[in-house]
Amino acid sequence: MDKQSQLDDLKLTIENSGITPELKAGATQLVFGAGNPDADIVFIGEAPGKNEDLKGEPFVGAAGKFLNEMLAAADLKREDVYITNIVKYRPPNNRDPLPEEKRAFWPYLMQQLETIAPKVVITLGRHSGECFIPDIHISQDHGHARRVKYHDYEFLVIPLYHPAAALYNGGMRQTLIDDFIAAAAVARKNLSS
Ligand code: URA
Repeated sequence: MDKQSQLDDLKLTIENSGITPELKAGATQLVFGAGNPDADIVFIGEAPGKNEDLKGEPFVGAAGKFLNEMLAAADLKREDVYITNIVKYRPPNNRDPLPEEKRAFWPYLMQQLETIAPKVVITLGRHSGECFIPDIHISQDHGHARRVKYHDYEFLVIPLYHPAAALYNGGMRQTLIDDFIAAAAVARKNLSS
């Protein structure tokens, strides 16, 4: 079975799993992920917001617009990478995902990653970063790559700030762009080695 069919199956499995029933009841739909199923780089955000919930695609609102700008600045095309979230149903009023919600989605996220098998995972925001790097301090650790192993699958994780950080605090905008360009360079080096 090709990767896209495996991902389609996984999406159905999650929808039928009974996972986070309160989130599911309040959401329009599951926001599974979008992009190239053969991507070498996967971006992982936190959870869908209002626009993502309505459209069924990750990062299509204001944070997504800035993500697109940073992808362009780093010379990456959205259709070449894959973008998803840890929690795949929108939390009410865009509240932070709860630890038990992240735990519930974790095995499915890992199945999604094992299917795509990227060499590099770029996490966006603390919630996403701490799933892979439990002792993370995002203000110190942003941009610092770490090797992570899950079963037999080893990959590089580069934790970055969440794009929305620049929307709340304009002073962070350049840091995010610089981090993004540096992360893309680390990713490229890793892909070619
Ligand atoms: N923020 C996220 O973490 N994910 C999205 O898909 C949109 C906004």
